Amino acid sequence: MIFDTHAHYDDPAFDGDRDALLRSFPAAGIGHVTNVCCTLRSLKTTRELTEAWDFLYGAAGIHPESVGELSEETFSRVRETARLPKFVAVGEIGLDYYEKEAPDRETQKKWFRRQLDLARELGKPVVIHSREAAKDTLDILREARGGEIGGVIHCFSYSREMAREYLGLGFFLGIGGVSTYKNARRLLEVIRYAPMDRLVLETDSPYLAPEPHRGTRNSSLNLPLVVRAIAENRGMGAEEVEQQTWENARRLYRIS
Ligand SMILES: [Zn+2]
Repeated sequence: MIFDTHAHYDDPAFDGDRDALLRSFPAAGIGHVTNVCCTLRSLKTTRELTEAWDFLYGAAGIHPESVGELSEETFSRVRETARLPKFVAVGEIGLDYYEKEAPDRETQKKWFRRQLDLARELGKPVVIHSREAAKDTLDILREARGGEIGGVIHCFSYSREMAREYLGLGFFLGIGGVSTYKNARRLLEVIRYAPMDRLVLETDSPYLAPEPHRGTRNSSLNLPLVVRAIAENRGMGAEEVEQQTWENARRLYRIS
């Protein structure tokens, strides 16, 4: 079975066929999906999805690009959603120094720290979004004793040296469609380097479709292509990769 640890099925890209698509997952070997919030609005739409679909879990948090929406009052809505039993993590949260439209760095850091505190308070792991902010993300995680909180670095895009630091904190690395791209050399090095019990599969649907579907709408149905990339690079069988990443994802999100 395949566990998609990171997707956005509440995205308008799925408005035309969402139910039919999600209904097709179990027969296609997609056992679980975690739908990850980015905005205040997605707290509600993700909650609706978790209520409609047994196999789907949620993560509640505000993406660094959207933390401008947060205030003490709206933050309480994140807390209320994150504490629901079907919400298995706080996320996606973190730092994005790439996106020009994102709030300033101090604002991002403030809400990243607050959301890490929330995860600690609720005893749930975090889903980290970190883009061109490897060192600051790591510093804040260390300062917040992130190793005790646990979680995943979603769409891991840093070097092997950085992977060693995050793995040292006990984090999982999220591997998706980028592993199939022509310029994936650095990521493939990380895939070969990381312990197999620390890799999890993710799509970031509707984004980052693997080759040969790059540029089209992504879905969990494409994950066998990512499984194949990992299997080839580690000299393992596809089934073994599926099985191991399934167990890893359940450990990550503490699903017994
Ligand atoms: Zn995402």
